[in-house]
Amino acid sequence: MKIAVVGTGYVGLVTGTCLSEIGHVVTCIDIDQMKVNKMRDGISPIYEPGLDELMKKNIRENRLFFTTNHHDGFGGADVIYIAVGTPENKDGSANLSYVEQVAKDIATHIKRDVVVVTKSTVPVGTNDWIKEVIQNHLVHNVKVDIVSNPEFLREGAAIFDSFNGDRIVIGADNEAAANVLYEINKPFGISIFKTDIRSAEMIKYAANAFLATKISFINEISNICEKVDANVEDVANGMGQDSRIGSLFLNAGIGYGGSCFPKDTKALIQIAGNVEYDFDLLKGVVRVNQKQQEILLSKMEDRFDNFKDKKIAILGLAFKPNTDDMREAASIVIIKQLIEKGANVFAYDPVAMGNAKKILDSKVNYTPSTFEALKDADAALILTEWNEFKDLNLSEFEKYMKFPVIFDGRNCFDLKIVKNYNVEYHSMGRKSIK
Ligand code: NAD
Repeated sequence: MKIAVVGTGYVGLVTGTCLSEIGHVVTCIDIDQMKVNKMRDGISPIYEPGLDELMKKNIRENRLFFTTNHHDGFGGADVIYIAVGTPENKDGSANLSYVEQVAKDIATHIKRDVVVVTKSTVPVGTNDWIKEVIQNHLVHNVKVDIVSNPEFLREGAAIFDSFNGDRIVIGADNEAAANVLYEINKPFGISIFKTDIRSAEMIKYAANAFLATKISFINEISNICEKVDANVEDVANGMGQDSRIGSLFLNAGIGYGGSCFPKDTKALIQIAGNVEYDFDLLKGVVRVNQKQQEILLSKMEDRFDNFKDKKIAILGLAFKPNTDDMREAASIVIIKQLIEKGANVFAYDPVAMGNAKKILDSKVNYTPSTFEALKDADAALILTEWNEFKDLNLSEFEKYMKFPVIFDGRNCFDLKIVKNYNVEYHSMGRKSIK
């Protein structure tokens, strides 16, 4: 099958590469010439474990190509995947301008019948609209079918998820188009769930909203645990052993971030609002998450009179480990407030510092290692649970910091171990150790 993938971000590049790995001939198209140049050399513009190796292998085997030219990319394609961004508009709705541009590009350049597949997360009804846009701009007399195929991969584990996901959802309004997608995806060996287009679009938002709800729920429980002297990790463990609840996504912390949950929850509130439905529960989930990002700061404010000229070490900037993605990371909110309050911020992240520099205040100092961030610091904040931080020996905090005061927003350390060291340790939903 000859496939074109438009957009080579976290989803498009992984999708294109994995489709080539199972034998399809794939051309990835992006408007960013610098990215395309890098990718042609087998270098991924994003950090994703295992991606460079897989790209290089499939480029070598002549199954994976990159271009900025839509005409070249679409020429001869049987199937075109749309994988461009759908960021948040100011009112929380999904911005469909990139998708619209791609729909127009498809209409202009295709010369044969194609199946267009929407991988981007788009509001219910968008696929009907994409089909309309394409049909209104078609230059040649060809047939276009549209299929919704939402993506569920997790950044940082995207390659693993592409080959081991829980399900592949195919939403189509005709059997022939659904079967094309079925055949493309069969080699992955993952269970395939076929449905209509609107249900497929809704599955993506409902799944993300549910996961976000689990996180906000455990964070509320965590905040109560702190007040009643309970331990949220034991509570989550005891809850999660009930198979109706499940143990995943019950880690208390400083809230969810990233390019999906924050925007998709708000978009679903909008989707509901458009049909005059007040999604009250989800509004609460979003509110709790915003509040949660500030909780570490209030713990610090309880501990210090002020932050003026204090050296604060930040361990972890990315919204989660194993990615360089900084979109909606809790670190953005926390660092902004620390700087406003006069703190000297020294930050370290294993891979996200390049992206962080583009968005954080220029007053942030970046260090080449954890230890340089910790050196002579008045407090350390752990904002991303990288293994590199979880594996630290707590004696390092004692050794390097002026005062070993740790605020752990991701519960990286076992309290039983912390007790053996001469550190002051504040975490989420668990007793502080002083
Ligand atoms: P991204 O911002 O990382 O990448 C989008 C890419 O599209 C960029 O490289 C950009 O240059 C390119 N682009 C924009 N307009 C283009 C055009 N007209 N032609 C060619 N290329 C164009 O986005 P992402 O994180 O990969 O997300 C893509 C979609 O997938 C979004 O709808 C997102 O909600 C959804 N999604 C993302 C994830 C995730 O973990 N990132 C997971 C599931 C679903």
